[in-house]
Amino acid sequence: MSDLINDFTSTGSKFFYHQEAMSKLREGKGQVVTTHLMPTDICQDSCSFCSVATREGNVLKMSEMESYINQLLRFGLKSVIISGGGNPLLYKCPETKVGISELITMLNGKGLEVGMITNGMPLIKDDNGRTLWKNLSASAMDMLTWVRVSMSGLDHKRKIVEVPDIDKSKTTLGFSYVYHDIYHEPLDPNHGKVSSVEDLISPIEDVKIEYGKDRLGWLTAPVAKAMDFPSCRMLSRTVAPSSLSPDEAG
Ligand code: SF4
Repeated sequence: MSDLINDFTSTGSKFFYHQEAMSKLREGKGQVVTTHLMPTDICQDSCSFCSVATREGNVLKMSEMESYINQLLRFGLKSVIISGGGNPLLYKCPETKVGISELITMLNGKGLEVGMITNGMPLIKDDNGRTLWKNLSASAMDMLTWVRVSMSGLDHKRKIVEVPDIDKSKTTLGFSYVYHDIYHEPLDPNHGKVSSVEDLISPIEDVKIEYGKDRLGWLTAPVAKAMDFPSCRMLSRTVAPSSLSPDEAG
């Protein structure tokens, strides 16, 4: 069980892979290994468990993010995770109007490994016939060490997970899903929440609820088909950036 936890979740155990950072801490010096960038809190979905449900549509300037990254590089930054609140594929710099491809290219140009968490976008075919999210160029996609697709689309009107063509030699693909209940009318049908024991014992009156355990059947079938997995028992997976590998010097 402990192996599974370390493989599939973010735990403090990863810190022990960074012996150099640990040595510095013993000397009273901090070292940054990785940082999150949340370029926008705009999202096309409306999950009730969203950490930025009260979002105001804030968007960071590219120049602000570059300045922040440059400061962390002096402290040994190795990698960046681009995530939300919000869907980073919808990023557009309010100053220069550049988007997510330029952000990834900027980070990659500084020698950083880049991972991204997104809930996807409509797909297009590029001139080479490659299936891509319409806001992300092929070259920027190939700069990603890993990408994790949040499958929130299954709970919204589109009912699909948009998965682009990944070059497996460059990028590791993972998926995540918040296993929750769906509340139907009169509440917003797209909204759900994670079951509590109280929900299961005393459901809300006059609201039709599909509990998470009842949804497994329809949930796993389309996911297995989309991913071409022989079976899909796994609903959540976290993939660590390859920078989080054992420190050779350690
Ligand atoms: S997909 Fe993510 S950012 Fe968008 S509403 Fe759902 S939880 Fe929030």
